[in-house]
Amino acid sequence: MLKLADIETRYGEIVALKDVSLHVEEGEIVVLLGSNGAGKTTTLKTISGLIHPIKGTIQFMGKRIEGMDAEQIAKLGIIHVPEGRKIFPGLTVRENLQLGTSNRKASRREIQQGIDEVIAIFPDLERLLDQLGWSLSGGQQQMCAIGRGLMAKPKLLMLDEPSLGLAPVIVRNMFQTIRKINQQGTTVLLVEQNARQSLAISHRGYILETGRIVLQNQAVELLYDEQVKEAYLGSAKLAGEGKARR
Ligand code: ATP
Repeated sequence: MLKLADIETRYGEIVALKDVSLHVEEGEIVVLLGSNGAGKTTTLKTISGLIHPIKGTIQFMGKRIEGMDAEQIAKLGIIHVPEGRKIFPGLTVRENLQLGTSNRKASRREIQQGIDEVIAIFPDLERLLDQLGWSLSGGQQQMCAIGRGLMAKPKLLMLDEPSLGLAPVIVRNMFQTIRKINQQGTTVLLVEQNARQSLAISHRGYILETGRIVLQNQAVELLYDEQVKEAYLGSAKLAGEGKARR
């Protein structure tokens, strides 16, 4: 479905991604793991057209997309839910959700249908529909942000650190919900620092270090890989999983 080949992305002189090749097949959850600054967010931004690579190719459902702008890419069905949620504080949950349909022409009936589908995934959002964005808790904001992504009817949903800054019990629910979204037919590319729980719901994973893919495998294999255990599943890393929201 999605194939990156030899991608290089720079911020001026800084090389953020070097020779990154990865693929996501239809129906999968694929996780991209790595420490702070490894290039995970840059990978998602490069796919969604927010930054253009200076080298390499990106194919989505057989089409070359590395030269397209973000709006065109969203129209093809690649939806990026950014880190930090970015919901509009002065708009209600309903209005935030409605904005998710801006990549497609949706009638009022289709919008309502979309909202009903989001509520079926996140039942807690129903009572919050008329509440303003600023008044939501972190977990509620994350539901709203992912819900807005689902309103676009994504073929590929890209989630950047959905667990960041959430309480442990909410994190568990969040991962279960991502699994449910996937089981209902949406392919997911996930960026996470929470290696254990993200690998537990993923089919495959990639490890990024300073802009390069250093390891890739089935998620169960990565969970038991000594290198991964040491770097990402050790006690020090687990303590870091509660990293505060920036
Ligand atoms: P984090 O978990 O902290 O978000 P990440 O793995 O997502 O980390 P990126 O945000 O993709 O990492 O950053 C990759 C590299 O690119 C880092 O060295 C970072 O400092 C650099 N970088 C990111 N954004 C910019 C920018 N706008 N301008 C210059 N350098 C940047």
